[in-house]
Amino acid sequence: MNTAVPQTEDAGAAACAGPTDALGTSAAQARSAVLEELIRTDPGRFRVLTGDRPTGRLHLGHFFGTLHNRVRLQELGVELFVVIADYQVLTDRDVADNLLQHVEELVLDYLAIGVDPARSTIFTHGAVPALNQLMLPFLSLVSVSELNRNPTVKDEIAHSRQSAVSGLMFTYPVHQAADILFCKANLVPVGQDQLPHLELTRTIARRFNDRYGAGSAVFPQPDALLSSAPLLLGTDGTKMSKSRNNAITLAATVDETARLVKGAKTDSERHISYDPATRPEVSSLLLLAALCQGRSPEQVAADIGSAGAAALKKVVTESVNEYLAPIRARRAEYGQDRAHLRAVLSEGNERARAVADATLAEVRAAMNTCY
Ligand code: ATP
Ligand code: MG
Repeated sequence: MNTAVPQTEDAGAAACAGPTDALGTSAAQARSAVLEELIRTDPGRFRVLTGDRPTGRLHLGHFFGTLHNRVRLQELGVELFVVIADYQVLTDRDVADNLLQHVEELVLDYLAIGVDPARSTIFTHGAVPALNQLMLPFLSLVSVSELNRNPTVKDEIAHSRQSAVSGLMFTYPVHQAADILFCKANLVPVGQDQLPHLELTRTIARRFNDRYGAGSAVFPQPDALLSSAPLLLGTDGTKMSKSRNNAITLAATVDETARLVKGAKTDSERHISYDPATRPEVSSLLLLAALCQGRSPEQVAADIGSAGAAALKKVVTESVNEYLAPIRARRAEYGQDRAHLRAVLSEGNERARAVADATLAEVRAAMNTCY
């Protein structure tokens, strides 16, 4: 696999986006447009790693933020690795409740949306020792102040269930670098919250190559691929999140979906308009309906006009239920065969172990630690 992905002037210019764009979203969006073109012309040069924490069922934020992109890339011929980040459950809680059940539910969600285990590798990082061993040399390549600055980690600490912040919380972006680099992925379809982590992964790859590569690149510097919904809000107006009780899951029933959307936060203005800066909650609902309908949020807003929030919610509920109907049907079907879910995972784990063993051997050779 050729992992060198050329940078372009466009991406460089976008990298100078304003100081208010703290997560670098506009630069990542511009870069994503460039990457889309490269993927279309040469999908074989890309390897993708993405994943999720097994903390609950996947939701619409995941779907439009990253899942949709994963399946699209797989269908374009890009090799796909999907990590179920079981160790990372322990970043913001003491105990990983119902872990096996959550892991199985994630596999179920992946199969339902169209991840094909014959072409793509679904694995849990806890089952891949050589991947985890990469964490030690990688930790030596970052400073404590770099870890301290990460805005996503700060936000997650604010929402954490723990009174004290664990070392795992601070260092999980380094673990994530191991998730990405063990398979030398060069493309990571993610939501906006992951951009600082991706930047750290790039830094780690660059520093490892500089320090140990002896003139050649052991690791690629992976790119983030942002979707058109890099931050979908939940029913309370903050990031839709498994752990915040504000999510509409892919597996929700038609009635649950209606109830959740009905309870979603909006504002008091009757005229419905798309303006993410001043009306974030209304705009996120419009975006959701638009993504389901394959139209623009402005068009959806124009249809609703001055009919108010109730009309907007009716449109959102109907659009989501219609869009998710085939996914929910497939989910119910795959859910009949739990043994199959476990077999998918065990095959994926085996494949991931082989890849990780090869990478660790390379790392040890580069670091002169083969005894
Ligand atoms: P948790 O609350 O347990 O952290 P989560 O809902 O934040 O769960 P993760 O497993 O942390 O989900 O994230 C998995 C992937 O989904 C990441 O790439 C993340 O960027 C993306 N993602 C999660 N929530 C959203 C969202 N609301 N909008 C867009 N992308 C999202
Ligand atoms: Mg999260």
